[in-house]
Amino acid sequence: MTAGKAKSFIESEQYHFGAKMRVPVLEITGAKDGPLLVVASAQHGLELNGVAAIEQAYSKIDPLQLTGRIVFLPVMNPLGVWTRRQEFPNDMARYGKPLDVECNMNRLWRADRENVPAWEITELVWERYASQAQAVVDLHGWSSLSMSLVWGNEDNLEMTRSFGLPCFMTVGYAETKGTLSYAAQGAGIRWVTCELASQDLLYRDEVRAGARGIMNILRYLGMLEGRLNLPTLQYEFAEGHAETLLNVPVAGLLVSDYAKGEIVRAGEIAARIVSLDNLDTLHKFAALRDSLLFNIGGAESNHRGRAHAVVFPGQVAGILKQVTREWDNTDSSIKR
Ligand SMILES: [Zn+2]
Repeated sequence: MTAGKAKSFIESEQYHFGAKMRVPVLEITGAKDGPLLVVASAQHGLELNGVAAIEQAYSKIDPLQLTGRIVFLPVMNPLGVWTRRQEFPNDMARYGKPLDVECNMNRLWRADRENVPAWEITELVWERYASQAQAVVDLHGWSSLSMSLVWGNEDNLEMTRSFGLPCFMTVGYAETKGTLSYAAQGAGIRWVTCELASQDLLYRDEVRAGARGIMNILRYLGMLEGRLNLPTLQYEFAEGHAETLLNVPVAGLLVSDYAKGEIVRAGEIAARIVSLDNLDTLHKFAALRDSLLFNIGGAESNHRGRAHAVVFPGQVAGILKQVTREWDNTDSSIKR
């Protein structure tokens, strides 16, 4: 095949809930034969940073410099994206209301046939592209409460780390069934899954981090020349790392001297709940051990996890994570 870029679609054949799906495919064929990398985003309709990250990476990559082939699937779930919801035709199950039909695209990979268009798309993408890939990158976006995070298998630590986010996590064979990464894992395909916070809107730095991650993975796989672009310091969280949920015991205003991503030393106060009547401190969340403040803000249940500083008992006001390992990248290199 000649080197170049090409745009096309894959389409579901059947109507479900009155709709079919047409999914854009952006391909880059390199000048030299090599691995196939598949990069997917927006399996969930509110998670848009990955779409823009792919736009940046796609325009940046010169096919003549590329070894192998890249298949980008930037809008995996066009009906979700266009209807501004995570799943089509509805995302009730995600918010705790049971449904007979699983509509979450990222629970349908290699699943028994389900009567939703998302399932058909996962089958087509799997047969045509993902099952033949050497590596798969799946871009998501969780709420603004949390830091962005990339994770992958323990035996694929270097690729996970090379994506280049400040926080990464390594897991064993524990990924949720029906996800793209679970399917890839079962087929012996290397994978990373990434959450680029947050939803609904594009966040410039997250978009850039996603694009940088794609370029880094290409370099890591030897598909592009050049050095990895990594943050000076990276935090690794191994499976089973200690995590403290800041469970709210009393209603009030959540205040903290720390920003997401900062280290809270053992015994220090990660956050407090202050009375909205007299500004007295009603509760202190002390760190039990040196931890990274990964998540802060009281999530409203059933409301897309929107952060809010007014918190109520029963909510989780934040998450402290114990760092398994710190990686200083000032003088280290990543093995392929
Ligand atoms: Zn997602």
